[in-house]
This record gives sequence, C-alpha cells and structure tokens, in this order.
Amino acid sequence: MVIKVLLLGGTFEARQLAKHLAGRDDMTVMLSLAGRTAQPVAQPVPARSGGFGGVDGLIRYLQEQRIGVLVDATHPYAAQISRNAAVAAEVTGVPLLGLRRPAWEEQPGDRWRRVADTTQAVAALGSDPRHVFVTLGRQEIRPFTGAPQHRYLVRSVDPIDPPLSLPRVDYLLDRGPFREAEERALLQAHRIDAVVAKNSGGTATYGKIAAARALGIEVVLLDRPDLPEGETVATVEAAIDWLAHRAASASMRGE
Ligand code: NAP
Repeated sequence: MVIKVLLLGGTFEARQLAKHLAGRDDMTVMLSLAGRTAQPVAQPVPARSGGFGGVDGLIRYLQEQRIGVLVDATHPYAAQISRNAAVAAEVTGVPLLGLRRPAWEEQPGDRWRRVADTTQAVAALGSDPRHVFVTLGRQEIRPFTGAPQHRYLVRSVDPIDPPLSLPRVDYLLDRGPFREAEERALLQAHRIDAVVAKNSGGTATYGKIAAARALGIEVVLLDRPDLPEGETVATVEAAIDWLAHRAASASMRGE
C-alpha cells in the first residue's frame, strides 16, 4: 500500500522533508507551493504551484487526487493556507499534521519590541530618522512609505515591485541562509540601528537576530498570526516518524 501525501510547503523544512521522503516506497509526495517566488529552488519531489482556489478548491483537490495524508509545512506567517488546510482536513477526514518551527525566544542582551503588524512596526520606529534593516516580503512592506524620514535597507527573495516610493532605500536580493558573522558585517556597513523582521523561527534567518544582539541593535518583531489547533510536530525527523507510522497503519488496514 502506498499513501499519497500532499505536502504544503514553501519552507526550508518542507524541502528537507520532501528530500527524506523522496526515495520511500510506502508513500508518494506531491509538494505544493504558493508560487510567489519567481525562481523557486529545485525540489526533490514532484511539485505543483499556485493556490487551490480557497478551501473548496483544496477539498476538491484532496478528493480528486485521493490524498491519504496532508502535511502543513508552510511558513508560520502563512496563516490562510493553514486555516484552509485545517478545514479541508476536517471536511474530508484526511489526517493532517502541522510541521511548525518554534518561534525564537528573547535572549539576554536582545532588545526586542513586539508589534502586531507592519503599521505598528512603522510607529515603533519613531519620528527621528534611523537606519532600518527590513526583512519583510513585498506583501507587507508598503506601510513603510508612511515614514520617509528613515533610510532603509530592504532584503527580499524577489524584487519589491513596484519599488517603494521612499527617498532613501537600498534593496538586497537574497534567500539565505544567513550566518551571524555576515549579518553583523551587513548591519555595520549600513550603520543599521533598527531591524524589522518576522519571528520566523529556525536557524536559516536567525543570523540577523544574533547579530543585532551582539551589536545592541533594536529588533522590531512582528507577532506570529494565530494558527489552527491540531496535531503538530516541531522537527522534520518527527514528521518523518509520524508519516511512517501512518503509512504502516494504512498498510495493515489494507487501505
Ligand atoms: P497565506 O496568506 O497563508 O496564503 C494565501 C493564499 O495563497 C492561500 O489561501 C492559497 O491560495 C495560496 N497558498 C499559500 N501557500 C500555498 C501552498 N503551499 N500551496 C498552494 N497554495 C498556497 O500565505 P502567503 O500569502 O503566501 O504569505 C503570508 C505570509 O507568509 C507572508 O508574510 C509571507 O512573507 C510569508 N511566507 C510565505 C511563504 C509561502 O511559501 N507561502 C514562504 C515564506 C514566507 P488558495 O486559497 O487559492 O488555495
């Protein structure tokens, strides 16, 4: 018996999980990406790209493709697709596992300010001109145009298009991972005195947080959105175990 896994991805962990599952003979994996990135990295399993058409579209996909297990390994800020996954799993009875990176925790020496959204982040920067490093995606970055007194360094995977109508902004295109030493050099080179970021968790983008701590720089962190309840694991290894267990029980039941 081979179970079909739909893996909702777009994260480093989803790619890692796909890589580990690629050679197995007890399951096949379809990786689903939002399709936001112009040049996505190569994936180790078959992949589809783009929305399903809301929760109804996802329900239809699960049924038509006879998906046996749904894994939500999306980014912690991609709350809509996680909500859709929870509803679709409930409606179809397809078991759902969430693979969720734990959030970063404040460490001694950190100067964090937590805010609910980008608008609050802009307010938290204050009225005096600052040198701000922004690592948010193009979907959430527009409110910074309301604070043209600052100089910005904006890093994103894809170009911010159209560019922000701000007098002083530099753009950096990079997808990481980012190491602390390089992040420290970047913050110093641009004389950054505030970082605005999401609490993404994991190691790939933690370098800027550690670098800001080392340099005594303030970090304005966007709170994570609420995500649906349900069965979750925090690591790729735990997700593999969970899936292997599912595949074994499905096989015993002759599904
Ligand atoms: P979202 O608000 O949760 O998703 C919006 C819609 O995009 C979903 O309703 C779905 O469309 C589609 N979608 C999202 N992920 C999908 C997937 N894996 N497969 C197929 N369709 C998917 O997420 P978002 O708009 O992409 O991003 C929200 C936040 O997460 C942003 O802060 C962004 O920077 C961050 N983020 C997202 C990703 C990512 O891969 N999505 C990666 C890194 C960071 P339908 O309703 O039509 O199915």
